[in-house]
Amino acid sequence: MKAFVHDTEEWRLFVDSSKISLNAVLLHNGNKFPSVPIAHASNMKETYENMKLFLKKKEYERYGWKICSDLNVIALLRGLQLGYTIFCCFLCEWDSRDRERHYIKKSWPNREIFTPGHKNIVNPPIIDSENIYLPPLHIKLGLMKNFVKEMDRNTSGFAYLKQKCSSISDAKIKEGIFVGPQIRELLQDGNFQNSLNEVEAAALNSFRNVCKHFLGSVKVENYRDIVIDLLLSYKALGSNMSLKIQFLHSHLDFFPDNLGAVSDEHGERFHQDMHGEAVPRVDVWINAAELLRSELWRCWNRRNEDVAIKSEMEQRAVIKFNAKLGRSASETYILMKQVYGTLCLSKSNVFIWHKLLQRHQKCENLLKTMMAEVLHIKKETIRTILHEDLGKTKVCTKFVPHTLTGEQKSVDIISAYENNSNFLKSIVTGDETWCFQYDPKTKRQSAE
Ligand SMILES: [Zn+2]
Repeated sequence: MKAFVHDTEEWRLFVDSSKISLNAVLLHNGNKFPSVPIAHASNMKETYENMKLFLKKKEYERYGWKICSDLNVIALLRGLQLGYTIFCCFLCEWDSRDRERHYIKKSWPNREIFTPGHKNIVNPPIIDSENIYLPPLHIKLGLMKNFVKEMDRNTSGFAYLKQKCSSISDAKIKEGIFVGPQIRELLQDGNFQNSLNEVEAAALNSFRNVCKHFLGSVKVENYRDIVIDLLLSYKALGSNMSLKIQFLHSHLDFFPDNLGAVSDEHGERFHQDMHGEAVPRVDVWINAAELLRSELWRCWNRRNEDVAIKSEMEQRAVIKFNAKLGRSASETYILMKQVYGTLCLSKSNVFIWHKLLQRHQKCENLLKTMMAEVLHIKKETIRTILHEDLGKTKVCTKFVPHTLTGEQKSVDIISAYENNSNFLKSIVTGDETWCFQYDPKTKRQSAE
């Protein structure tokens, strides 16, 4: 088995929140690995205190992931006041009400003072600004919003949009609230492009170019020109400069070089799920798996430092070896005790592994047995939960993502953790990537 080393540099923390809930998922930069949900809290408002608590629970200081999130969350994390404030940029002292100079004045003084009371700062910042990734997804959503808001309501373009997006409510269309896939579809729709007036067509065109050549997976060499083109066409469209547009105008250098690697395919789906749009599959799985992962994380990290964990892996191999030689569990335990002393696995642990490894039980079965053992629930019950409640028909090495059900979303993990510090400890501490010492080569193998 390849030891899984969690390199915090390789992951970004994608935080999505709404008025009523907070979700966080670790996304792999480059999206090679599946996303790892680490928190879901319903009834947790988007507030400074909650964000602080949440990061503390997730040991943010220790891991220091880069954070990718919507601008509201970022503003909170930087101690800014929310709402329609004059100074809403976390990087500079841009005066958002100075309409006269929108699209004209490009550089504003950098924010250097973070004393509450100064230019809409209300709290001391929780994270450093260099740990922020401006999220391409949210910039896109913002650009779409501005575009649709400025569309002429009486021309063919708007009528076409309404007809094309008949499943979206009128209010949402008017406000320009779309999700990633809808935006992509509209950008590719030649009929939509043709139904627009000249100014709108130019703006849509430049929006498409920015998505493709700057916010997408490839950043072209002349991306600056492409962004300038967008700014000009949005200005011509009569669009107010939003905070997001301001980032394109004044902070182009703040965007990471490898925007492609952090392009939000996963985050996007995650975002859609959270905001209740119909999506077929979402890279967020169930709470049980989520908790299992967070505990796993701990193991993975500990494994690098902690001799006991390494020893545990080794001891498992020893158990298997002894079992194959035909030694009984108690014989094995006595021998191991002699060698490993205080580091030796507990007797019951040795017995379980002995039984399991001897019988070559299949992966799924083993996993269930482990769960049963740790959770003190009957194996049959675990089977029912996995198959019927959680809809997992097959346990694969790669967890298959599922859409969260309403009930699953209502489980408040942070408060469960709050109420019982042993909560996480009571969760199964492994999945098949953890307990098997081989890399499955095929789908067939991984499903075993
Ligand atoms: Zn700014």
